[in-house]
Amino acid sequence: MQNIDLYNFKGKKAFVRVDFNVPLDENGNITDDTRIRAALPTLKKILSDGGRLIIASHLGRPNKNPDPKYSLKQILPRVSKLLGVEVQFAPDCANAHAEVDLLKDGEALMLENLRFYAEEEGKPRGLSDDATDEDKAAAKKAVKASQKEFTKMLAAYADAYVNDAFGTAHRAHASTALIAEFFPDDKMFGYLMEKEVNAVDKVMNNIVHPFTAIMGGSKVSSKIEIIENLLTKVDNLIITGGMTYTFTKATGGKIGNSICENDKLDLALELLAKAKAKGVNLVLAVDAKAADKFDNDANTQFVDVDKIPDEWEGMDIGPKSEDLFADVIKSSKTILWNGPTGVFEFENFTHGTRVVGAAVVEATKNGAFSLVGGGDSVAAVNKFGIAEGVSYVSTGGGALLEAIQGIELPGIAAIKK
Ligand code: AMP
Repeated sequence: MQNIDLYNFKGKKAFVRVDFNVPLDENGNITDDTRIRAALPTLKKILSDGGRLIIASHLGRPNKNPDPKYSLKQILPRVSKLLGVEVQFAPDCANAHAEVDLLKDGEALMLENLRFYAEEEGKPRGLSDDATDEDKAAAKKAVKASQKEFTKMLAAYADAYVNDAFGTAHRAHASTALIAEFFPDDKMFGYLMEKEVNAVDKVMNNIVHPFTAIMGGSKVSSKIEIIENLLTKVDNLIITGGMTYTFTKATGGKIGNSICENDKLDLALELLAKAKAKGVNLVLAVDAKAADKFDNDANTQFVDVDKIPDEWEGMDIGPKSEDLFADVIKSSKTILWNGPTGVFEFENFTHGTRVVGAAVVEATKNGAFSLVGGGDSVAAVNKFGIAEGVSYVSTGGGALLEAIQGIELPGIAAIKK
């Protein structure tokens, strides 16, 4: 693989896979352009070298070609504005040779949504509800066969391939992974991807101890693989959020109406035993902010986490747990944070998540490396305005979660190969 910083794009056509899957309102206006901004360093480097930039992305989950609701044309003006050049547009990503050939050094072209073609994902479309297993297998085989042609055709546009789409790195799609084999000497990560890969490396491989992972969120079942993998790496594992109560109930506590996965009680006990066997300090809340209904304006009281009265439910951690978590976090040199400590969408139940955030920021100030990632924790750091105070906020939700499960992401493996 090449290093983007050392690569000279002068006169070269560069196919750059970005993740411009930005949220749009009902009128097609971008409501958050973070993903576009995140790719700018890579795009600007190629243009300033005098390269010919081909920008490729998906947007949403279209099921047909074309589908104006998911057209990337809607975001073209914003991309041009942020990039500072007028970006051309190819309305059919699979027939863009004419537009590519017109590109001059230092010019940019954006392809229409790659997912307008089923071949991008390699998943069959349009199967009727009564399709048999044979029909499904035949349709899958057909799309896989045409996926090779589609990939080859995309690759033919360019001299170099740059993957800057961490958000889709966990997908083995045509433009995110398969295409890389056509550029054995000219494939590389973009700057954003490089930052993501380095951040993951710091919590998975090159760990400075003590390492604390904070896993919040609602369900143990959705985080089980991650927790299992983290138990082989961390010194401290804080399990918080709605997951707390499955553990509390499993160990005989009273949890009232708190969220609980009754079929995961044995699993919770197993995880406690595994942590003990591995010498991991598994930290659970000792108190809760309980509410008499699932509502921001509910009546509340602080109670021991294992003595939640009937009809009440734990909605956030209490002050004793806040101190306990903050002490562990502040004594750490590596921190991974995924998921809130409570129902942080309700203002009255944000306190625990805020205290955890402040502790992560303080530890970072004192030299710890902190990575925040995965859906809700990113929303939390943005909501509380502390993104600047942590070492890195990942742009990849699902991709980051798979990476911290220890899975090698296809988009990353294809470049490294
Ligand atoms: P996840 O998507 O699994 O990361 O979970 C995030 C969600 O967990 C957020 O929407 C929180 O509102 C929710 N959550 C956190 N703590 C609790 C709790 N104590 N009871 C119910 N939901 C919770």
